[in-house]
Amino acid sequence: MSKPRLDGKVAIVTGGASGIGEAAARLFASSGATVVIADIHDALGEAVAASAGCTYMRCDVTDEEQVEATVGAVVGAHGRLDVMLSNAGVLLPTGSVMDMDLAELDRVMAVNFRGAAACVKHAARAMVVPRNGARGGAIVCTASVASLQGGFGPASYTASKHALLGLVRAAAGELGRHGVRVNCVSPSGVATPMSCALMGVGPEELEAMTVLHNVLRGKVLRAEDVAEAALFLASEQAGFISGHNLVVDGATTAINPAVLHTVGL
Ligand code: NAD
Repeated sequence: MSKPRLDGKVAIVTGGASGIGEAAARLFASSGATVVIADIHDALGEAVAASAGCTYMRCDVTDEEQVEATVGAVVGAHGRLDVMLSNAGVLLPTGSVMDMDLAELDRVMAVNFRGAAACVKHAARAMVVPRNGARGGAIVCTASVASLQGGFGPASYTASKHALLGLVRAAAGELGRHGVRVNCVSPSGVATPMSCALMGVGPEELEAMTVLHNVLRGKVLRAEDVAEAALFLASEQAGFISGHNLVVDGATTAINPAVLHTVGL
């Protein structure tokens, strides 16, 4: 199978200044796409864009007007939008559900769910507009293994990612008639500034911790692995894949470790 390509495609990557989004922006650009990084971390975003051959636009996804303006500016500059990687996310330590800070819950939902909803909405509007006889596009949302199970993060984060998966499935059902595919990519733990801040350790230490517990023992999940999965979903090679949650977790959510150990496997 040949490597997925995005030649001639125009893509927006939200949260592209860091971590998984940065890896995706770099990979999409080196795979032929014109990439616009949309983030709130201007210094990082500009630096990544300059070194990856992308452009940077400030866009806070919690503000629908900014999302609409970013999509409009990209379509204005390039004539089209083919790929939206809605990836911006936060993980705030909202504590136990019994003393959850509801203001922090709102903040998590505002970025991870509401922000992604704005990206799906405005990307879809741009993609269903007929252009040169062709229409359609690919929307990929970075969810998480927390979209499927509890226990991978605070309740607020888990709820936001479950909601995101519901949004993606609903949007896939509605937008298929317009040739727009909508999918999730759902990684397990990757050492990025977000996960390192949560655990209070550096990337090497976090990877050393996860490698001991991964079902794929000895292997480490990196941002580049997640970017490859997002590239596949964005590309024509995934042309009949929509409404899917592509889990990139080395079987973490496929097994029940307690049962596995009980039966001696
Ligand atoms: P990261 O902190 O390295 O990157 C997140 C990026 O999102 C940053 O560049 C940040 O500036 C940007 N961002 C935050 N709020 C924003 C806003 N309001 N508007 C625009 N941009 C905003 O973290 P990451 O680990 O690369 O996370 C990327 C995505 O992957 C998130 O959706 C996260 O939930 C998901 N994820 C991460 C892991 C992991 O272990 N790191 C696992 C599963 C899913």
